[in-house]
Amino acid sequence: MKQTKGWAAVSDFDGTITLRDVGDHLLLHYGFSDKKTIEESYSLKVRVEDFMKRAFAGARLSEEVIAGFVREKVKARAGFSYFIFFCERAGIPFEIASGGMDLYADPFLKKHGVKVKSFFGRARVVREGIRITYPFLKRMDLSSFKASRVRRLKTAGYKVVFFGDGPNDLKAAGTADKVYAAGRLLKLCRERGIKASPLVSFTRAAGFIRKNS
Ligand SMILES: [Mg+2]
Repeated sequence: MKQTKGWAAVSDFDGTITLRDVGDHLLLHYGFSDKKTIEESYSLKVRVEDFMKRAFAGARLSEEVIAGFVREKVKARAGFSYFIFFCERAGIPFEIASGGMDLYADPFLKKHGVKVKSFFGRARVVREGIRITYPFLKRMDLSSFKASRVRRLKTAGYKVVFFGDGPNDLKAAGTADKVYAAGRLLKLCRERGIKASPLVSFTRAAGFIRKNS
């Protein structure tokens, strides 16, 4: 038996920490994609990282426009900032593993006054649109990467709570000790017999950790 160090947390970003997928919301709002294309990107067969690269390649948006959009339109799930401070105080490692991009994640985290360990696509505004790279993926796909972050913490002796909402979170959910799932992920977990609690607020997760520590 491995010795347990208590809890650690890994979270998806889009649609999990935020109420809506920021990438999709941006693409739709500025007319760079349509609902059908976005819906198709949620197939288990589509790699989110490939979709993101393709979808934003022709999206002519400046850093300022994206930051302004985040400030005005992007809402955090209830209890997010509280949960980050709760983890800091309790010495619970918390990290974000995301197929989203720094151009919208940075202004979001800044707005909420939190600094957390995170993995986001690295985006650069170029003439034709936005070029996104995922240096942390190396040869792994995003969904395996998320699961690998959960596994890494488990190997280090932690029990891991995972938060997610999308098909690309399924592997990580299947690896975690406790899952909070929203949207498509909750449905997939139920279909596949992976135990998951509905992700409503992060406050509940803090309560769960407190009770089970
Ligand atoms: Mg998501």
